[in-house]
Amino acid sequence: MSIVKLNEVLVAADKGKYGVGAFNTLNIEMTKGIIQAAEEEKSPVIIQIAELLFPFMPDWEAVTVASLCMARKAKVPVVVHLDHGMTFDNIVKAMHMGLSGVMIDGSHLSFDENVKQTKEIVKIAHVLGISVEAELGTVPGEEGVYSAQVTIMTDVDLAAKYIELTRCDALAVCIGNAHGNYIKTPKLDLTRLEDIKRVSSNVPLVLHGGSGLTDDDFRKCIKLGISKVNIFTDLCNSSLGKLNALMLLNSVMQSQPNILSDAMHGSEVKPKEVSYPQVISETIEGVKSEAIKKIRLFGSSNKA
Ligand SMILES: [Zn+2]
Repeated sequence: MSIVKLNEVLVAADKGKYGVGAFNTLNIEMTKGIIQAAEEEKSPVIIQIAELLFPFMPDWEAVTVASLCMARKAKVPVVVHLDHGMTFDNIVKAMHMGLSGVMIDGSHLSFDENVKQTKEIVKIAHVLGISVEAELGTVPGEEGVYSAQVTIMTDVDLAAKYIELTRCDALAVCIGNAHGNYIKTPKLDLTRLEDIKRVSSNVPLVLHGGSGLTDDDFRKCIKLGISKVNIFTDLCNSSLGKLNALMLLNSVMQSQPNILSDAMHGSEVKPKEVSYPQVISETIEGVKSEAIKKIRLFGSSNKA
């Protein structure tokens, strides 16, 4: 399978009424876990490299090249997408590197400036056959180095105008969703989502800040027109859970070396120390198991 355009995957999802998981990666291990999950589930998948997360990556360009290389070898269609593109330079650089989708995040700008900058990116991207995701409204919370305190819900009438003016291929909306771990239970404005979908001229809609929503929230959002669901925090939490369990086991083994032999009624059991390669494989496993859960929930299994 080759790398596919964001648009290709999302239009099929929109028609088929399922959602495609867009999973953020920080390193090769995370990319591996995401691809393995998609292959096992025979699902299309979107791997995202977020400009907002560049400071947390060892080398974003190296991770991008590696992710492209792994995507080309995958047995399912993979989109490699720039998430939250904040600067013209990095968005153009990402297109030049071969990503098949880019997001321009103009959500912090005025409506007119957001339209102007998005139009400029769409013009370049469409010449190169690359899809563009844009955002209207402001999703609050923390994502990487970015933190927004205010929520600006996506205005329905402005959304219609924005799509018409920018000709973006996908639109990220704010309907009460938030980035990072939710501090209080989110209350999604599903009527607003339904109204945006009605005026969106079949442009697929995107939900950011998916981690922490309930399964029911996801199902309802996908039913009402969300085609792409961004997930980052839940992947990290899942991997951290695996690593914590590994470290806990390690410290028990260190402090009570006979615990295994006692549990096995005296049989000789040699506890293994945690090794660095185990940390790598647990990171992959944590990402993979969570991505599988989300792929099943979003309904994209067997859609590859
Ligand atoms: Zn986001």
